[in-house]
Amino acid sequence: MADKKTALVISAHAADFVWRCGGAIALHQELGYEVTVACLSFGERGESAKLWKQDGMTLDTVKKVRQEEAQAAADALGVNDIRFLDLGDYPLRLDRDAQDQMVDIIREVQPEWMMSHSKWDPYNTDHMNTTQFALECRMIAQAWGHNPGQKVLGAPQMYLFEPHQTEQMAWKPNVFLDITSVWEKKRAAIECMQGQEHLWDFYTNVAENRGNHFRRNSGGMAGGRKAEYAEGFEMIFPQTVDELA
Ligand SMILES: [Zn+2]
Repeated sequence: MADKKTALVISAHAADFVWRCGGAIALHQELGYEVTVACLSFGERGESAKLWKQDGMTLDTVKKVRQEEAQAAADALGVNDIRFLDLGDYPLRLDRDAQDQMVDIIREVQPEWMMSHSKWDPYNTDHMNTTQFALECRMIAQAWGHNPGQKVLGAPQMYLFEPHQTEQMAWKPNVFLDITSVWEKKRAAIECMQGQEHLWDFYTNVAENRGNHFRRNSGGMAGGRKAEYAEGFEMIFPQTVDELA
């Protein structure tokens, strides 16, 4: 167990991890990582419009459908473990209890890297509040004085995945990940999100465009590495290296 590499994705709503880092999840599962996804809510109020347009819809039914979709998407990506914290959405209720729950998960998983939303999202404060929450929980998990006796967290990188309407979010990628080899898994996961069919092709286009940026940045005019699909991420913390590349 000590040799297992792990990663933790903290997603505000049930579908966010699918569009924004489904490729990273599927790829790292194939690389032998155990990826845990923590969905803080189902996106039941704010990201389920198609369901709410049906007659007689109830909150419990929306939550149930969204959980089933997210679970199916997680299965398509090979996610090791998905946790639904059911904290409510629009707005998310990120209180002290939620914080304690998340710190426990972080310490249990001991991730090599973590992932969450952009720092700024004026369209959807649940997203940016989740990032702030994730950073706070990471900090608490590192504190020797928090629940003494538990294994404290090291210093996992925090990657911020690509938001919607990228240019409005003060988000600037400094890592491109080639997800071509797992693209079929990501597209299959995307198609599990039946309530948001209007986004399927949009996020296929995003992956193709980021594939272009991968090629440009991996070799430019000299001939970059062929990548058809990629995902972009912004790193929060500096990398520590032995050799510059
Ligand atoms: Zn969301």
